Amino acid sequence: MSKITRVPGYMQSKGNRNRGPIGDREIRYKCSMQNTILDVLRARPGWQEVSGPNTAANQQQPGQKGPATSSTGGTTTTKTSDGDWDFYWCDREWLHANYDTMFLQEHQKILHFRNHYELTRKNLMVKNLKRLRKQTEREMGKKEAESFDFFPTTYELPSEYHIFVEEFKKNPGIIWIMKPAAKSQGRGIFLFRKLKDITDWKKGEYQPLTDPNREVPETYVVQRYIENPYLIGGRKFDIRVYVLVVSYNPLKVWLYRSGFARFSNSRFSLDSIEDAYVHLTNVAVQKTAPDYDPDKGCKWATQQLRQYLTAKHSADAARKVFQGIDNIIIKSLQSVQKIIINDKHCFEMYGYDVLLDSKLKPWLIEINASPSLTASGKDDYDLKYGVLNDVLNVLDLENRLTGKEKRVGGFDLIWDDGPVLADDGSMECSVNGSSTTANSFLGCHSERKKQLREIYTAAQALKKSVAS
Ligand code: ADP
Repeated sequence: MSKITRVPGYMQSKGNRNRGPIGDREIRYKCSMQNTILDVLRARPGWQEVSGPNTAANQQQPGQKGPATSSTGGTTTTKTSDGDWDFYWCDREWLHANYDTMFLQEHQKILHFRNHYELTRKNLMVKNLKRLRKQTEREMGKKEAESFDFFPTTYELPSEYHIFVEEFKKNPGIIWIMKPAAKSQGRGIFLFRKLKDITDWKKGEYQPLTDPNREVPETYVVQRYIENPYLIGGRKFDIRVYVLVVSYNPLKVWLYRSGFARFSNSRFSLDSIEDAYVHLTNVAVQKTAPDYDPDKGCKWATQQLRQYLTAKHSADAARKVFQGIDNIIIKSLQSVQKIIINDKHCFEMYGYDVLLDSKLKPWLIEINASPSLTASGKDDYDLKYGVLNDVLNVLDLENRLTGKEKRVGGFDLIWDDGPVLADDGSMECSVNGSSTTANSFLGCHSERKKQLREIYTAAQALKKSVAS
């Protein structure tokens, strides 16, 4: 983390461990993950780890020392009662099991909204998008509803099997992809061209529920496969985009400038539709390829991708790609805005997966509420470390900001109950120049540490002038 200017009076640890608003004491956090987020939290000045059930601090391996005390001010672990925390990076399972029985104080912050699955389960995401598309068509017309044409035709199985079969027959020869609705990392996915190719799946999964002892079949989605992906070096890729939602009502959305493109290991071809190394871009899948080279990896930074598209096509073409991604983010969040249980304690850091087709049209593949925070190499670690630190910077439990910032580190505020416009003269990305452009800089240059120093200095000056 960069050295930041501290606002006097904030965050000076006085060892006051009383519950209640943070004020002048350390920030107590719990974390149930043992990956980059834990490193970030442990290195954060003035933050103190507390243990308890379902925390990394309680899952130390035998022989492993307690949390490191970092040079930047990281802290030692304190045992506390379960409600004695200010910030909790919890897993979804814990939230589902416990949230409804908890009483949170005004200032406490916790990862995940209670029913985040409305957006992150593949079947529900599509159901919500279809509903908003229909409503938009009804209220604003066909043209407006076309802005929702960013997700491939999708049906839920087994419930929509018969509608799917009708659609299948209308489009002979095209390729479909089958995906378990609630699994991740490419598990259980397969491609097919003929209905008979899913006979085995049907036998196993799609049986009438006549036998009362039979388990409910796992829900799948069947989706039109994008047969013409945009290729670089003959390989397919998808783009991981980090999005932070701090409120659903009003909707407030931050978009991270950096992310990455994940490439498949083998050259793209439609001849071998059963080959996961060709058709799936999940790192979890690709790293099992026999010829996978961990040094070469299979990732490009989003900045590199934007530069490539700008050089190969034009700045305008690249801008359209990234504007299309903004549209996907906003429309998808709006599709659940009235459904997600808004809660001032909750926030969500989503990992969006977007695929480009050969015409440079972006397609939404899925949205993750627990994007992988385990790094696959040094660059990946630095990226994730920066994103997570900036999540904490935006949430600002230290109360160092004014609350009016449009940019915090690598995050830009793109929606604040309506579109956010870029400030005048914002030329950070050569294609985003005028004052009427959106405050969105995905794939643009990000000098996050310098920017953080500047906003903290400005916020401190403002607070001083207000106080005097
Ligand atoms: P998981 O949650 O298991 O990662 P995804 O829906 O993200 O499932 O799909 C895994 C991968 O499969 C994606 O990263 C993408 O490369 C590929 N994929 C998924 N859906 C499609 C599609 N409709 N067309 C083309 N490729 C797809």
